[in-house]
Amino acid sequence: MKLAIASGKGGTGKTMMAANLAFTLARTRQVTLIDCDVEEPNLHLFFPAPAEIQEVSVPVPVIDAGRCRHCGKCGEFCQYGALTVLPDRVLFFPELCHSCGGCRLVCPEDAIHEEPRRIGTLSFANAFAGLNLITGTLDTGSPHAVPVIRAAKKVAARDPVIIIDTAPGTSCPVVEALDGCDAGILVTESTPFGLHDLALAADVADRLGIPVGVVINRSDGKDEETRRFCTDRNLEIMLTIPFSREIAAIQSRGDLLCKVRPEWQNEFSSIFEKCVAGARVTK
Ligand code: SF4
Ligand code: SF4
Repeated sequence: MKLAIASGKGGTGKTMMAANLAFTLARTRQVTLIDCDVEEPNLHLFFPAPAEIQEVSVPVPVIDAGRCRHCGKCGEFCQYGALTVLPDRVLFFPELCHSCGGCRLVCPEDAIHEEPRRIGTLSFANAFAGLNLITGTLDTGSPHAVPVIRAAKKVAARDPVIIIDTAPGTSCPVVEALDGCDAGILVTESTPFGLHDLALAADVADRLGIPVGVVINRSDGKDEETRRFCTDRNLEIMLTIPFSREIAAIQSRGDLLCKVRPEWQNEFSSIFEKCVAGARVTK
């Protein structure tokens, strides 16, 4: 079961949701929690533990100046503008390269080979007996979030229960994190902005064929618009968490609602059971 926690908007409580769900489930089964918000991973703050770090690299082209005849074919081929062929040399812009390998294939002089270039890291921590945490972190200045997310998902691919915390929004890194998931939870809040971005996230999940349910966080009780939207789109509201100073205080000190107030564990377990029941069948 691969379950994604997403939100069209930042700050809705998506990471809180992922952390509490993982904490609750890991008390009765083995759970892998993956932080795919690679530009700002923060799940590790809920689960401090020693971590093993592994580098994530992508292959990038290296030009052999001795063999290159400056024919221009690699520059013409590259759709990302990562190669500029001058009369006496080839300029390479690694931040634009998407590691497609095409330039190496089209070079008639066999003047291009590939070498790995570091773009980020994965860290592996055993938070407690039932919970492994994998954190993807993009190196500062690197624009390539997608390969880091792909690497994080790949190492956990065979684990029985995987919870993926995506980045907020609906951009490429979110699509990559959602892709291949069996079910999803969209976390929103009862504001016009929350509803607008919930609609965007629901559209993305729809296009990817992922069944999703909704959690309304920090509800002020005025959720009519959100509830109407969910009814219209046939989205189940799996849980409503009220706005509460006590819950806000628990979170702001980096604690877990389900740990401090164990009565919430039933609510989070029930969300998971609903997701399992509605999950798409994958091979
Ligand atoms: S295709 Fe090969 S030979 Fe032509 S400019 Fe590029 S590296 Fe040089
Ligand atoms: S590997 Fe692909 S994206 Fe990178 S420079 Fe070569 S053609 Fe361009």
